[in-house]
Amino acid sequence: MVTVAPQPYDRVFNFSAGPCTLPVSVLEQVRDDLLNYKGSGASVMELSHRSKAYEQIIQEAEADLRTLLAIPEGYKVLFLQGGASLQFTMLANSFLAAGQSADYVITGTWGKKAIEAAALIGTANKIFDAKADNYNHCPDLASLPLTPGAAYLHTTANETIQGVDFLADPQLNVPVICDASSMILSRPMDVSRYAMIYAGAQKNMGPAGNTVVILSPEQLEKAPASTHPMLDYRIHAENGSMYNTPPCFSIYVAGLVYKHLIANGGLAAMQATNEAKAQTLYDAIDGSGGFYKGHAKPENRSRMNVTFTLPSDDLTAAFLKEAKGHKLEELKGHRSVGGCRASIYNAFPLEGCQLMAEFMADFAKRNG
Ligand SMILES: *Cc1c(COP(=O)(O)O)cnc(C)c1O
Repeated sequence: MVTVAPQPYDRVFNFSAGPCTLPVSVLEQVRDDLLNYKGSGASVMELSHRSKAYEQIIQEAEADLRTLLAIPEGYKVLFLQGGASLQFTMLANSFLAAGQSADYVITGTWGKKAIEAAALIGTANKIFDAKADNYNHCPDLASLPLTPGAAYLHTTANETIQGVDFLADPQLNVPVICDASSMILSRPMDVSRYAMIYAGAQKNMGPAGNTVVILSPEQLEKAPASTHPMLDYRIHAENGSMYNTPPCFSIYVAGLVYKHLIANGGLAAMQATNEAKAQTLYDAIDGSGGFYKGHAKPENRSRMNVTFTLPSDDLTAAFLKEAKGHKLEELKGHRSVGGCRASIYNAFPLEGCQLMAEFMADFAKRNG
């Protein structure tokens, strides 16, 4: 087996699908700010969200996120609560007006939840569903039968449980609303291709608690003039995400992650590293002579969630147990796919993937 240097603070290689591993340097900064933030005499957790110090934190977080994703001017950036799951309801509540319908593309579990929430509010057309193939691929969006006049088209960029990703921005002339929770900041995106992008923080951005919403000016215009205040994008936009107390700590840590990404080459650099990490694991799957089977079709293989099965449940259990012995943890797959899932978000190190690949080869040799 490859020898890997001991990890700082005796940390494990944490393949958790979310909340997930964060950069150690960010955690160290959090530790240092925890008791006395920049000489303010108070913890970063104890600052009023109306204080100068906190204003600077949230404004820098927004500015850095705009830099990272090259968000076009005019687009709003919001930091909300309730997770991506609340967005399933909030976006339909705002953009699926009475008498209208919206199109949904279902490539996995989260898209299914999104359409279920929308169907409680209005007409949600399922124009694609990969269920018959147990969600192992994404369609070519341009080939789908879009509903004329649909309010929007909803997609899930990367399906976290199945490990399938479109791997490209949509090239459509309809408003696309995208759940980017498990791939945002893992590669550059052409934000101008989307009417709205939303993502929970706890996969690539920071601890759970804040949900980023990026809204085009045209889409915000379509929001109703008045709705339940906490579900009203206009109110959150007009108040700079401070209509009520924002998830201060989660936004603060995400802000540190944004700075960390900028300092490390931005999203193009992340993409190169993430592709190398994912390739290491897919090579281990493909090179195992059929011992491991990848769940996703090769053209839609996620760079963030690598899903694969072993020949039997007994072998899967043995694999997970032995992996833990090498500090390779949180590898159990979701029951709908079975087998294993290695989630390798931005902060997961390449050396962890290399160790995993070696372990996989060794395990297959002994058990194949
Ligand atoms: C994790 C995840 C969600 C759910 O996020 P919550 O913050 O728990 O609501 C939704 N969509 C995708 C793609 C996810 O990965």
